[in-house]
Amino acid sequence: MSTGGPSLTQQRKLVTEIPGPKSIEMMKRRKQAVSSGVGGTMPVFTQAAGGSVLLDIDGNTFIDLGSGIAVTSVGNSAQTVVKNVQAQAELFTHTCFMVTPYESYVAVCEKLNELTPGNHEKRSALFNSGAEAVENAIKIARAYTKRQAVVAFEHGYHGRTNLTMALTAKSMPYKHSFGPFAPEIYRVPMSYPFHDSRSGDAVAKDAISRMEKEIGATQIAAIIVEPIQGEGGFIVPAPGFLTAIFEFAKANGIVFIADEIQTGFCRTGAWFASEHENLVPDLITTAKGLAGGLPLAGVTGRAEIMDSVHVGGLGGTYGGNPIACAAALGSISEMQSHNLIARAHEIEGIFRSRLTKLQQEFPAIGDIRGKGAMMAIELVNPDGTPNAELVGKVTKYCHQNGVIVLTAGTYGNVIRFLPPLAISTELLNEGLDVVTAAFAAAN
Ligand SMILES: *Cc1c(COP(=O)(O)O)cnc(C)c1O
Repeated sequence: MSTGGPSLTQQRKLVTEIPGPKSIEMMKRRKQAVSSGVGGTMPVFTQAAGGSVLLDIDGNTFIDLGSGIAVTSVGNSAQTVVKNVQAQAELFTHTCFMVTPYESYVAVCEKLNELTPGNHEKRSALFNSGAEAVENAIKIARAYTKRQAVVAFEHGYHGRTNLTMALTAKSMPYKHSFGPFAPEIYRVPMSYPFHDSRSGDAVAKDAISRMEKEIGATQIAAIIVEPIQGEGGFIVPAPGFLTAIFEFAKANGIVFIADEIQTGFCRTGAWFASEHENLVPDLITTAKGLAGGLPLAGVTGRAEIMDSVHVGGLGGTYGGNPIACAAALGSISEMQSHNLIARAHEIEGIFRSRLTKLQQEFPAIGDIRGKGAMMAIELVNPDGTPNAELVGKVTKYCHQNGVIVLTAGTYGNVIRFLPPLAISTELLNEGLDVVTAAFAAAN
């Protein structure tokens, strides 16, 4: 039995077919025990993981270009995260912060207030999942503005609970057959340069006109947007789009919420992706990269908004669990001590040069986009229509050859890369060698 953590040899190594015999057996057990409604990207079961590799129960080692969906940015089982978790588990596992509080919850809120954009006075509150953070951000915005309408965007993803399903754009698999959805949610156009070839200002004008004419600016409590859309396909809006939406919100007393659950915590080469357009959101939701793999989420924002809710209006049994908070403090300290913001920029450089070469060879790669260690390619047919079939072939080849990659996109035709920011250049290049071979094999 191997131990995980950074001591796991950072090397791709296959010793069986994928999936191996033990994973095939476990998949049978899974089928009997686990609801088939829970999806699955790869049919291999995990034995251990560390840094940027994952060891399966058959002894195969995979290069991780997914980070468990942008979570293990500091590497899997990072040293400081593990140390903090162990120490906290020895002290106490839970009290409920609303019953008897503890320091680590406060310390995480202090960090969030310090690291998020803007020097104004801030407050934070902690929750268990991204969706829960989004729900609470909406609750807070409604309480503060005493308005009800909430605006979300085409291709947006905000979670799978009832309110966040309503905010999420894509029907299958997230919403299909699960209605009715929460009322007073409106969807407006999103800047998607590869598809619309329009300026950020032009698309923002359309979105703003829709808000003014169809909803009424004075009815809108909040506008929620991912600065770079995650599940929607790593869509980077054209310059100026977010700023125009932000200015509209500001001029009309609307709370501007940046959903940075996927883009936050160094992922895009900044603490938060809002910084790329110098945006200072009123509220920011965080989760994924925050706590090195433990479930923790936050809402951070202007003190007057966050404190406008009645006492007891926010909370939950587990929100800001002490072990998750200890993990977050470890994860944030790893980001700072290893300068993972700078590393995200280097990773982007490696992706851009490799993917540009790949695109010259394979014109099915219609678009290369993203920021930092959040990069994607969108695959199209010669006539420009989405090529989800090729995405299937390429990802299957990667999975069978020891590289974990994920897909995304409203049309299912995007391959997204979310490596740990702790990944070595060698390992990243080897992962991209396999992606290159996958395109050659698929053609
Ligand atoms: C993943 C994600 C969520 C939902 O987070 P969960 O922890 O899965 O509930 C919300 N918004 C964005 C942008 C996400 O990427």
